Amino acid sequence: MIYTPEHREMMDSIRRFISAEIDPFIDEWEAAEIFPAHELFKKMGNLGFLGITKPEAYGGLGLDFSYGVAAAEAMGYARAQGVAMGVGVQSNMATPALAAFGSDELRREFLAPAIAGDMVASIGVSEQGAGSDVASLKTRARRDGDDYVISGSKMWITNGTQADWICLLCNTSQENAGPPQVFLPPSGGGPGAARTWGRSERGSAHKNKSLIIVPLKENGKRARGVEIQKIRKFGMWSSDTAQIFFDEVRVPVRHRIGEEGMGFIYQMKQFQEERLDGAARRLSAIAWIQETADYLRQRQAFGRPLLDNQFIQYKLAELKTELEALRALVYVATKTYIEGGDVVELASMAKLKAGRLSREIADWCMQFQGGMGYTWDNPVSRAYRDYRLGSIGGGADEVMLMVIARHMGLMNMNA
Ligand SMILES: Cc1cc2nc3c(=O)[nH]c(=O)nc-3n(C[C@H](O)[C@H](O)[C@H](O)COP(=O)(O)OP(=O)(O)OC[C@H]3O[C@@H](n4cnc5c(N)ncnc54)[C@H](O)[C@@H]3O)c2cc1C
Repeated sequence: MIYTPEHREMMDSIRRFISAEIDPFIDEWEAAEIFPAHELFKKMGNLGFLGITKPEAYGGLGLDFSYGVAAAEAMGYARAQGVAMGVGVQSNMATPALAAFGSDELRREFLAPAIAGDMVASIGVSEQGAGSDVASLKTRARRDGDDYVISGSKMWITNGTQADWICLLCNTSQENAGPPQVFLPPSGGGPGAARTWGRSERGSAHKNKSLIIVPLKENGKRARGVEIQKIRKFGMWSSDTAQIFFDEVRVPVRHRIGEEGMGFIYQMKQFQEERLDGAARRLSAIAWIQETADYLRQRQAFGRPLLDNQFIQYKLAELKTELEALRALVYVATKTYIEGGDVVELASMAKLKAGRLSREIADWCMQFQGGMGYTWDNPVSRAYRDYRLGSIGGGADEVMLMVIARHMGLMNMNA
């Protein structure tokens, strides 16, 4: 896949938007630990940036996912990854399954406003006891007439304190589900002790789960039975993250995406766009290599610019080579995806490599910027914090390795 002039034009307009509407406010949003999603998404929606790959019938541009990847890559250049992640959730994580499998009514009610920037979306897969091992999640939707009644909780929800709705993965039958685990909101406001259970794509617990669109607000107020607690984090400060509790929350059955029991399968498909989005955003790490080289060209030590040291030149050259290899992997995976091929292995490889490499680049760039790099307000130290999430969020590196090993036939697919 090679970007066309149309891809480049779209990327340039996103980069111009970032310069005008995001970067000037980034420090303020980082300090506040939240960016104003409704305000920003409305501006982005007006420009068509939130529905690039979504059907035109719902206000999208109807373009193929290569444009989604190009947009994610351009968003990565925002001076804080938290904003780019929040946009990624809206465009490529919370909405692909709704767009692909939701009823016309559901798409008009929730997808069209998300594309227009009138509603903020979130995706609820992870739980306090189920991160890597998605299949073991406990949030349950019990059928009661024409409604589902939802109990449980979701952890680490991006856009969570602002979202109008959540695309919730939950158990809709008891088979393989076990009792619902309702974690009480921690009094201290923190996430509580995370348990090391297992985001796998394994085995037999597939058919008891559904994806349901759950409104988190009613008439501008918090929906009945929903409680939200913000989580403070190591990085990605401008992105708000929340734990969300559901206590007998009633939603109409028509809010279910597609068929009952197909939620896990839909989510596994939705994960592929999430992984490609995340990997594409990290291609922006090239900016840190270039900025570090510019800094080192000016910075003198031992009577000459630091950039004159061959070790530094070779390290930056090596990092750029690795990044270009990642770019090729992301583009090949994207081409496979838009051609309808099985992209699970390539998307997992791209996510794995992007997480590790972006961390390595930020680490070396901080190293070469010395004490200045280590200061709180230096953008490279923010990149170091932000990129750290790439190896944890959306499936940890080890889970990506597990998925790749399975696809290589190295382990039992049902293990
Ligand atoms: C800032 C942030 C934003 C997030 N946003 C969202 C969101 O919007 N929606 C959502 O649903 N989730 C979200 N997540 C959750 C994220 O996807 C999970 O954190 C991730 O999948 C890992 O799950 P866990 O944290 O429960 O780690 P655990 O499952 O507890 O695993 C801990 C560690 O164990 C190791 N490990 C796990 N399994 C294996 C294995 N099989 N073999 C070897 N090692 C293993 C890995 O190193 C892993 O990091 C977010 C997380 C963060 C931190």
